[in-house]
Amino acid sequence: MSDSKKEPMASKTDNRQVVMKIQEIQAKSIVNKSNLPIAGFSVNPYVGCPHACRYCYASFMKRFTNHSEPWGTFLDVKNWPPISRPEKYQGKTIILGSVTDAYHPLEERYGRTRMFLEQMQGSRANLILTTKSDLILRDLELIRTFPDPLVAWSINTLDERFRADMDSAATIGQRLAAMKTFHDAGIRTTCFISPIFPVVTDVFSIIERVKQRCDYIWLENLNLRGEYKSVILDYIKSQHSDLLPLYEDIYLKKENRYWGQLDTQVASYAESNGYLYLVAEEPFQKRKPIKPIIINYFYHERIRQSEKISKLSEQ
Ligand code: SF4
Repeated sequence: MSDSKKEPMASKTDNRQVVMKIQEIQAKSIVNKSNLPIAGFSVNPYVGCPHACRYCYASFMKRFTNHSEPWGTFLDVKNWPPISRPEKYQGKTIILGSVTDAYHPLEERYGRTRMFLEQMQGSRANLILTTKSDLILRDLELIRTFPDPLVAWSINTLDERFRADMDSAATIGQRLAAMKTFHDAGIRTTCFISPIFPVVTDVFSIIERVKQRCDYIWLENLNLRGEYKSVILDYIKSQHSDLLPLYEDIYLKKENRYWGQLDTQVASYAESNGYLYLVAEEPFQKRKPIKPIIINYFYHERIRQSEKISKLSEQ
């Protein structure tokens, strides 16, 4: 990837008054092979993400893209050559937004995500979109032209104050409303409860809130690596000091008992409430389930497509 316009432009995101350094860059191609277990290809129309989540796993991208600025304060807007033969992606799964949020506020101005969707019209690719935004409502009609698209909203709290402490994305209320609109439109929706902060994230309250508007509930634990480990531990120390010993056990002493206990609690809740509960399964079922399917991704290394979900896909 090489820079095409090097002049940075100052801008502000909608939520936090952060001055953004923005530049346009030229990418060799927009669709890339992905190592993610859930998709063979990934598309990231931007480098960087104005949502600036404090725990952002994607901030490692700074190392590969020559950025020294704090994550969330820069955005590279990609230009790319026309996609040759979009139909070659027929039946292939493409995740849109694996190391950025394709619907951050500046998408409204630059429109690269919409441009990609327009270029892929007729490709019959399987799309998975993950976001923390309601700007995706703008593209509902475009998204529904793809076969069986799946849209996931990350929600790890119902507490707007904690949400605002952690990210500058859309409010939880906006995400829930967007999820409902897509669900009502017959598009498969996921509530991605991620990252689950031990004790702080009330998984069961979130499930109760979203159960009528989503087809899947994915669970992912908070992983702390790299520079943001200390940021999050400092936050817990200042805001939830009573939880600090637990967080130190998990993130400094690598004690995993908490996740095992939560796994057991979710299994029991699912059984009592009639939910199918799967562990580390790929979310490839194409049919909308009658009740949300809960999938636990605490154990990423075990993600697989098991017979259970394959059989559901055939029904
Ligand atoms: S929305 Fe995703 S990519 Fe963007 S900052 Fe948050 S975690 Fe990172």
